[in-house]
Amino acid sequence: MDCCSTFSSLLTLNQALEKLLSQAVTVCQTEQIALTQAARRITAQAITSPINVPPFANSAMDGYAVRLSDVTASAILPIAGKAFAGQPFHGEWPVGTCLRIMTGAPVPSGAEAVIMQEQAEVLENGIRFSTMPKAGQNIRLAGEDIRQGAEVLPAGAKLGVAELPLLASLGVAEVNVYRRLKVALFSTGDELQTIGQPLQDGQIYDTNRFAVRLMLEQMDCEVIDLGIIRDDESAIRDAFARADSLADVVISSGGVSVGEADYTKQILDELGQISFWKLAIKPGKPFAFGKLSHSLFCGLPGNPVSAALTFYQLVQPLLMKLNGYSQWQKPRQIKVKTTTSLKKTPGRMDFQRGILSSNAQGELEVQTTGHQGSHVFSSFSQANCFIVLEQERGSVAAGEWVTVEPFNGLLES
Ligand code: AMP
Ligand code: MG
Repeated sequence: MDCCSTFSSLLTLNQALEKLLSQAVTVCQTEQIALTQAARRITAQAITSPINVPPFANSAMDGYAVRLSDVTASAILPIAGKAFAGQPFHGEWPVGTCLRIMTGAPVPSGAEAVIMQEQAEVLENGIRFSTMPKAGQNIRLAGEDIRQGAEVLPAGAKLGVAELPLLASLGVAEVNVYRRLKVALFSTGDELQTIGQPLQDGQIYDTNRFAVRLMLEQMDCEVIDLGIIRDDESAIRDAFARADSLADVVISSGGVSVGEADYTKQILDELGQISFWKLAIKPGKPFAFGKLSHSLFCGLPGNPVSAALTFYQLVQPLLMKLNGYSQWQKPRQIKVKTTTSLKKTPGRMDFQRGILSSNAQGELEVQTTGHQGSHVFSSFSQANCFIVLEQERGSVAAGEWVTVEPFNGLLES
């Protein structure tokens, strides 16, 4: 246990993140997979282009390919042949003639410029040009877009709709990616009921496991769902041991609050080195983090809003480091005016749920979703951003500037 196992010490979000990330080492196993199976995977090495793009010099215009020395103000050049996209010209090209050429057609060898058809007069015996062409005019050179051997994507990039078609256009059929992270997940609590089952007296639905599972799936993790674990010492011990043997990361929800279910702490002490943190954020109850024998462990608070928030702010960056997604960027923050007042007591950093929209003048502004209790999960469905209020700030009046963090893909609908 380090100094931060003292429950009274409050960690700022950045301090917690620093500690968490310093323990995270990217999984080193990689695999070679087909491009068609690679959506959402992370590149394990830089990808270079096996070809030039465009692969050959081609015409940027519909017009005529010429040799510069043949074009004079009075010259009439007969058409010696045609080059269309997909149908190159390979015939003989006599001096003093031109070639009809269409956009995308390979530029025939010897051609020094393409003159657009709007600058050409079609006469009975050939073409007369109204301008003198410059060398290379209207010719797209081979490799002008991407040179053969040039880096197209760095290591640590996520393969999505922008990246995969690009690789396909280069003829790349397989990619080397990091293996998917295995994440074991369970929730603890005698009061929890599985979704779809009738609620018994005193029960509530297990929303945390569902919310976390959805976010893990968004991050393309392999989820090992161990279900609901009762508040029972041996059941919890078994769950931790099983999860540790199966996964890279173990995530639990509930049972890490101070004083409550002391055996959770005792079991975690037995099985690994876990620190119980109290974070200077709201919502955000105690959060546990550390190492089990084989895996890293994150213990989320039981309150659904706190669980989702700590997952988003802490576990998300952790998983992004572990799975090799080095190009991942923290959610961006912007400054806007709030149109509603916001209740806040100084001491912790608030992540209130807000609705960001543009007003009639096209300026961004934010309003609260209302009740900010850590059990009000509906605040997430109305919201599209966090309103991030600084630790020492008190209540905010309508019209004041606030920092807003738009949700990224994990929380977006
Ligand atoms: P705990 O951290 O276990 O003390 O739980 C704190 C609060 O969150 C209690 O009101 C629990 O009933 C609630 N809670 C715990 N786990 C879950 C869960 N998986 N889904 C929804 N609420 C939960
Ligand atoms: Mg509990």
